[in-house]
Amino acid sequence: MNLGVQYYRPPFPLRKYWADDFKRIRDSGLNTVQLWVLWGWVEAAPGKFEYGDYDALVALAAKNRLGVVLSTIAEIQPPWIHREVPGSEMVTNLGAKVISSNRSECHFGITPGGCTDHPGVWERMSRFLAETVRRYRSAPNLVGWDAWNELRWNVQADGLVCFCEHTIAAFHKWLDLKYGGLDGLNRAWLRRYSCWEDVRPGKLPHRPYTEMIAWEHFITARCNRHGQARYDLIKGLDPGHPVTVHAATPSPMMAGGAENYAIDRGNDWFLAEGMDGIGCSSFPKWSNLDDADFGMRVEFVKSAAGGKRVWLSEVQGGRSATGFNIYPAVDALSQQRWIWNGLACGADTILFWCWRDEVFGYESAGFGLVGADGLAAERLAAMKATAGLLAGNRRLLAAYQPARAEVGVLFSPQSYYLHWAEEGQARRPAEALRGYARALVRKSIPYVVVEEEHLRAIDDLKILFLPRVLATGPEIEHRLADFVRKGGTLVCESECGAFSPAGLYRYPEDRFLAKLAGVQEIGRRPLPAGPVEATADGQALRIEGTQWLTPFRAKQAKVWARNADGALAAEIPVGKGRVILVGTYPGEAYAKTFNADFENLVEFAVRRAGARPEIEVLSPAPTKDAFLYVKSGDSAGTRVVFVFFPGGHDLARLRLRKGFFAKKAVRDIISGRKFTLTKAQGGAQELTLAASPTRICVLVGD
Ligand SMILES: [Zn+2]
Repeated sequence: MNLGVQYYRPPFPLRKYWADDFKRIRDSGLNTVQLWVLWGWVEAAPGKFEYGDYDALVALAAKNRLGVVLSTIAEIQPPWIHREVPGSEMVTNLGAKVISSNRSECHFGITPGGCTDHPGVWERMSRFLAETVRRYRSAPNLVGWDAWNELRWNVQADGLVCFCEHTIAAFHKWLDLKYGGLDGLNRAWLRRYSCWEDVRPGKLPHRPYTEMIAWEHFITARCNRHGQARYDLIKGLDPGHPVTVHAATPSPMMAGGAENYAIDRGNDWFLAEGMDGIGCSSFPKWSNLDDADFGMRVEFVKSAAGGKRVWLSEVQGGRSATGFNIYPAVDALSQQRWIWNGLACGADTILFWCWRDEVFGYESAGFGLVGADGLAAERLAAMKATAGLLAGNRRLLAAYQPARAEVGVLFSPQSYYLHWAEEGQARRPAEALRGYARALVRKSIPYVVVEEEHLRAIDDLKILFLPRVLATGPEIEHRLADFVRKGGTLVCESECGAFSPAGLYRYPEDRFLAKLAGVQEIGRRPLPAGPVEATADGQALRIEGTQWLTPFRAKQAKVWARNADGALAAEIPVGKGRVILVGTYPGEAYAKTFNADFENLVEFAVRRAGARPEIEVLSPAPTKDAFLYVKSGDSAGTRVVFVFFPGGHDLARLRLRKGFFAKKAVRDIISGRKFTLTKAQGGAQELTLAASPTRICVLVGD
């Protein structure tokens, strides 16, 4: 496993610190350093490449037995780019040329720089990438390439981009391919365009849905394509090393906003498909992420990666800083928890951001693993202890894979685009998805996120949750129907599939649930105060919703809740499977405000679908802010269970499926303690655990 730290963002730290820092990095147990190779810095004058500082750092790393990950930062461009490539500026939705400037957190090099759809920009960018790869591909301590940092391409564009002629031409080409010509587009969109020139992207939210959704989709695809181009170039010159990219945040969390479309930094599933893996950044103290939130980020990336590499490329090193704000310091126990949580969820590389505190204006005084938040010494001591454990259990951890999931949550980019087109952000579907994932994590139920254009993953599932999936096309509708008829359970929310991919609203009888399950939604009604009181198979469930209620009728339905207008929650048998429909948005409501009954609803549906979690937490009982976090998996036939104790609870009881562990005792590889399994009803196994000072157990069968 690569356990490392970001070190160099030129020209900092200054050379005088390097030798001592690298020795300390090695002494702390870390085995890898990451270096930012900045285009703007390396090729500060056109055609003149200067790598002297990197040569020295790579050699110094080798001397200290440290591997090197090179991050190719081609998106921070040389200040001469527009002079050398005239007309390469990005253009905003209002037709203004974007003025590039030095990045707020990077000392030299401009951003966003030239548009990569301009052939002159890509030609020069690819020359820089090729020079860099040729120079370091033979370095004996090269670990791999992080080809694109946080998939940034429009930072500091100060508006919606890019409307330059090259990007618009690429948009038309993409549409042409997708629809098989202008006639096909007109048929799909119900438009009467007479030439491509007239097909313009949406300008702002609501203007209008159809063009805006298509444009957002194109922007995602364009980002995927650029990532793939970087990968192909680097991999072509250096087939022997892994090449990945990493997002700031997994794509299901990219809700967009005033200057960003939804999912405008690519789609992890498509990126991973063509590369050696995929990653993301995480700043848990800064963003106030708990075990579930942090774990979900890794699980989302892992879902996208399939069996490929999962790189956590920026994990918070020390206290964050923006301006003169002060944020919580990073304590050693939390930081070590991120490492074990990352491992438990399937990460194979963890790189902290960063070694020293930053010196750049806005981020100055922040993020250093050895920074001045008062806790550096304890962080380094804990890092050394963890690094020793990782090394001592190398084989076990290297072969570890998280448990296979029978439960899926659908990620529907089309629905995100629709929401952004409607509201200028896709916060609602992102929160809805997070709600289901979070409930599953807290119930220790393994799950996988399924992307709407990568549906092969549903073949392994028993149940699929559809959080705010408002837009569906014929292909996905067909696959979902097939899934249900063969025995799968689909959990749908209000107005599922109520919009076509072109953003046109469908009458209830034209929606796929009408055809599949005879569902007739009767329209939107105000959301009353208080929850919907439901009874499912004798179990009372109070379902909190958001936005509205959409009562419905369905002939075969076992109704769980109703009002005067119709059913509000019901189970509808279809073929060998079933549809569970709730006429509001409980996932989004739960993500906003905790309610235990949502977790019960999710667990009820999972069991209804015939999925049986292997591990159950008997105690402590979960509360809003604390839950016993359990992840499990397998390492070459050996079961591995990660247990994270919440604050205030030092004892835990687990029930494990019959035969889960082969022997009568398990060992915690962190503390070295042994625990004995006892027999429970039906042959199940029970385990009582006591927290150690780290509050983490990693159990393996003895
Ligand atoms: Zn452009």
